[in-house]
This record gives sequence, C-alpha cells and structure tokens, in this order.
Amino acid sequence: MPSKQHKLIVISNRLPFYKVTDETGTTRWKQATGGLITALDPVLRKTRGVWLGWDGSAHSSVTQTPIPLIDVREIDTHEHLLGDEPGYYYIGNIPISAEEVEEYYNRFSNGTLWSLFHYFFEKSSINYASWNAYYEVNYRFAQHLESVTTPDDIIWVHDFHLFLVPFFLRKLRPQQMIHFFLHIPFPHLDIFSIIPWHKQILESLLCCNTVGFHHKQYLRNAREAVKLYKKEKLSTGTVTIEDGIDTRFYVNPISIDFDRFDTTARSAEVIARKEEIRTQCGCPHLLLGVDRLDYSKGIKERLLALEHLLEEHQELKGQLAYYQVAVPSRENVEAYQTLKKEVDEIIGRINGKFSTGVWSPIHYIYNVVTFEELVALYSAADIALVTPLRDGMNLVCKEYIASHADNDGVLILSKFAGAIAEIKNCLSINPYSIEDMSSAIYCALHMSLKERNRRMIKMRRNIRLNNIQSWLKNCLDLFNIN
Ligand code: UDP
Repeated sequence: MPSKQHKLIVISNRLPFYKVTDETGTTRWKQATGGLITALDPVLRKTRGVWLGWDGSAHSSVTQTPIPLIDVREIDTHEHLLGDEPGYYYIGNIPISAEEVEEYYNRFSNGTLWSLFHYFFEKSSINYASWNAYYEVNYRFAQHLESVTTPDDIIWVHDFHLFLVPFFLRKLRPQQMIHFFLHIPFPHLDIFSIIPWHKQILESLLCCNTVGFHHKQYLRNAREAVKLYKKEKLSTGTVTIEDGIDTRFYVNPISIDFDRFDTTARSAEVIARKEEIRTQCGCPHLLLGVDRLDYSKGIKERLLALEHLLEEHQELKGQLAYYQVAVPSRENVEAYQTLKKEVDEIIGRINGKFSTGVWSPIHYIYNVVTFEELVALYSAADIALVTPLRDGMNLVCKEYIASHADNDGVLILSKFAGAIAEIKNCLSINPYSIEDMSSAIYCALHMSLKERNRRMIKMRRNIRLNNIQSWLKNCLDLFNIN
C-alpha cells in the first residue's frame, strides 16, 4: 500500500498555467483558474508534486524528450493568485503540434468525445485521422509521464482528453498506482457504443486502480459497459481483470471553494458593486445565467423560456432583466460558431420584440469577467438559471449558492446537471421543456422571502460541507495519501 512518501503526479490536458504572447512578442505564463486547480495546487505544493499537461499553444517540435520540469516558484505570473502559497511543485509542458491541436483537441476531444458523452450524438463526428492523433498524443503523454516519474509515484489522470493514458502507462509500469477521474458524464451504453473505439477506452479505464465519477448514474453506465464488454460481474464496483489489477469505481462529486466565494461576497467592494449592478439593472428582478458558450448548456432553450414567459405574462415587462454571461469557448469548432450566431439572433429578436425606450429584457456579456465581478453578479441575482441540457457536474450553481451570504436567491437547476443529485432545495426543471422552465421562473419570481431563505440556508449548508477541500480529501483517502 502507498505510504506518505509517495509523490502525487497530476496529468491533465491543460496545465494550471498557460502561455500568452503580448504585442511586443514577449511570451509569459499566466495562471489558469478553476476548481481543480484550487483543489490540487495546495496538495501538490505540500508534497512537491508534479503537474504534467499542455500549455495551450501549438509547438513546432513535439519530439523533445525528456521534457524539462519547471519549478512554479520560477514562474512570475504577475498575478499572485496562488503564487504566495507556501511550498512548490513542478510543471512539465507536453508539446502538441498545430495539426494535433486540430485533430486531437478540436476534432476528437471536443468534436467527438465531448459531444457524444453529453448525448449530442448528431453533433459528433467520427473519423480515423482524429482518432489516430488522439492515440498518438495520449501515447506521448504516457511516455513523458514515465520519463519524469518513478514507479512509487501516484499518478492521477484527469478527464476525457486522456482516456488512453492509463493503458499506455500500465504497459510501461505494471505496478504503478494509476488513478483516473472523469469530469464529464459517462453516457449510457447505447451512446457510448456509437464510438468505434469504445472498447479501447474501457480497456484503458480498467488499467487504473480507481476511476472516479461525479454522479452515480455515470458509474452505473460505466459498469454496464464493463459488464457487457468484459463479461465481468461488478457487484461491489470493483472489477478484477486478467492481469490482476483491481479497478475500483467510485462516486465523488467535485465542488467549489465555498469560503472563497462566501468571503468575497461579504467584502465591502463586492457589496458596493452588487448595489451598482442592481441600480444599473433598473428592474425589481434580476435573473442571471453564467456559462461557457457551449451547446450543452441549454442557453438557447433558456432564452426561449424567457420569451415565452414575457409573452404569457405581459405584466412582467419592465419588471425583470436577464443577464447572460457567455464565456467564449472552442471558437475553432464549427458547432460553437453556429451556436454563437444562433444565440446572437435569438437575443436580438427577443430584445427587438419586447424592449421599450428604457428597458431591455436581456443583457448579454460575451466575455470572461473577473472573479469579483462574477461574485457580485451572483449575489445581485434574485434567480440563477442553470439549465444545461447535459452537464457532468456544473459548478456555477454551487458558486451562486456560496455567493448568497444573505440567504436569499432562488436556483433553477436542470435535472440533467450532475449537481442535481446534491442540491435538493432548488427548483428542478426539464431544460427541454420551454414551458416547464418558464413556469419555474414565474414560480421563483413569486416565491416568498421565507421560502427563499429556507431553501437557500439548506443549500448553503450542503455546499459549505461538501466543498472542494472535502472532495480532494475523499479522493486522497482512497489513494491512501493523506
Ligand atoms: N467562470 C470564469 N469566468 C467567467 C465566467 C465563469 O472563470 O467569466 C467559471 C465559473 O466560475 C465556473 C466555470 O467557469 O467555475 C464553469 O464551470 P462549470 O462546471 O459550470 O462548467 P464548465 O465550463 O466546466 O463546463
């Protein structure tokens, strides 16, 4: 069994830092943000671990081996988001060529796997050239892993971009502890088997010691796939394959740094900004959506629900404003370009139909916003509309809850978001039903303060307890490295 001396090695498609080149041609690192980074940065610093991944840029050469490891203390991001934390770890930048960015990343990871695993099989393209690139890049990631680690290290592979890494690594390191966490849904067998290479993916997962999921349904789906293709009985969630490795499937829903949102929401600056947003909004009710501009998020359907609501309830005109933060995403992928056009058109049409000289129902922010602005928006919003058609987890709904230190606010949440399993006091909706969503918004607008408080207090208690730190602890306990 692993002991405290074992080093944690994280590998994901993207590094916790990315490279940007300014107008003068100077390239420097910037720190990325996100739940996984918040969770893993402290533990990697404490254990002097390593994080391997890609810096997000196209490399002219991909043959360099071994890759140099960079001490994060040497990276001056000028931002100091996490840089003042004690301890350090290393990052290793795995090169990817321009052609691989297109085939491995845009086409296969985003165009095939993301769409299929989110049940959008009609958007999923299947082709061998991109599978080959995916195979190659995964093999390269495994080779670099081998070159910078020892057989005693504990390897933690993250997400769908790297499904094949455990398979390649197991061949190189038969005794290595290899863990995998899937951050997107694992679809039903009928969908999973559409992908011609589903058996290779499954074989690779069964090369791991553990495989983590956000929701018990994802685990069940994976287990069904294993049962069919491996003809194994998985009564306890553990399967033993021929070469004797036990693969344990487990469920551990990822979460957020509750205290960071809560503390920021209580700060004087954010409270002042919240008041400013409310004044600018100029309506009694502020509704909010925050999403990457992704077809899985159900943004179009949500806008149509708002249109339906305003048509059905003329008295609401001038009474509500919907703010949509849409973070640009995967702009090189055609489905995302099409979505952007469609969303622009729908917003234009709805605003054209209902706006008066002084009021427009929809305010569209097509950009990233700062952390403080995000928390101010969350805390200013009376209602959050989190209505994905399918989402592995969805952190926005948890961030909305954590930002409501006033115990007010109503969360409308899709029954197809992984988070629904934990958040019982929201208004749960079917995002495919425009009328269902419209009724839920109407209900939220008329909910009493007492009822809003009752629900929000319960939701906050849950997210405060089940935060990103407890998620990490549960995983590390399983790996036996606490
Ligand atoms: N987010 C951000 N900047 C923004 C808007 C959102 O960093 O301007 C973050 C947000 O705080 C959340 C993440 O984007 O943590 C979205 O995560 P979620 O799980 O909801 O969806 P994903 O984008 O991972 O599919």
